[in-house]
Amino acid sequence: MSKILIIEDEGSIADLERDYLERAGYTVLMENNGETGLAAALREDCDLVVLDLMLPGMDGFEVCKKIREEKNIPILIVSARKEDIDKIRGLDLGADDYMTKPFSPSELVARVKAHLARYERLVGSGRTVEENEIVEVRGIRIDKTARRVWVNGEEKSFTNKEFDLLTFLAEHPNHVYTKAELFHEIWKMESVGDIATVTVHIKKIREKIEYNTSNPQYIETIWGVGYRFKI
Ligand code: CA
Repeated sequence: MSKILIIEDEGSIADLERDYLERAGYTVLMENNGETGLAAALREDCDLVVLDLMLPGMDGFEVCKKIREEKNIPILIVSARKEDIDKIRGLDLGADDYMTKPFSPSELVARVKAHLARYERLVGSGRTVEENEIVEVRGIRIDKTARRVWVNGEEKSFTNKEFDLLTFLAEHPNHVYTKAELFHEIWKMESVGDIATVTVHIKKIREKIEYNTSNPQYIETIWGVGYRFKI
């Protein structure tokens, strides 16, 4: 269940907010000071912050700004003064919503729900799932994370070194590398082999990605120098 942090110095308001949010099924943390509130927002894995503006320690404007620098969780501001809301709009501190006191607690719950739902949609269900790193060049799609390669939509299999070499070249297009540079880059200190290994690997890569290996469209041979991945 979602965890909500309330930063509010007025005890009766904080209690009211907590009661309604807990009744709606949320886990609630409370802080009554701007500084400790900010620390809790950064430390705790909370999903939404309900923030007062006039706070001891550090005011809500500053707290809002500092949370936003670190996290993209929804921030709902509840302030006694309409002018404060106007000010925070003007300052563009990154708050997601504003309510003026006195407010209806069920309205607060409704807004919290709406913001959490929107945030969930934005970040997706699995927040820890990162997108794969993709390199795409003219019909060649390299998924660096999954180490898979598609050529014009068709998956081709590459050995580890072929994959590393292709990816390196595709990530540095329009740059001529000598065989020695490529050997050093891809094979590193693993072997003290012959740099002709590079030639052999380039040939194998070409067989998989080029339509016509004698007229390569991707990896060009620069005679007497090395190879260049064409943009
Ligand atoms: Ca206050």
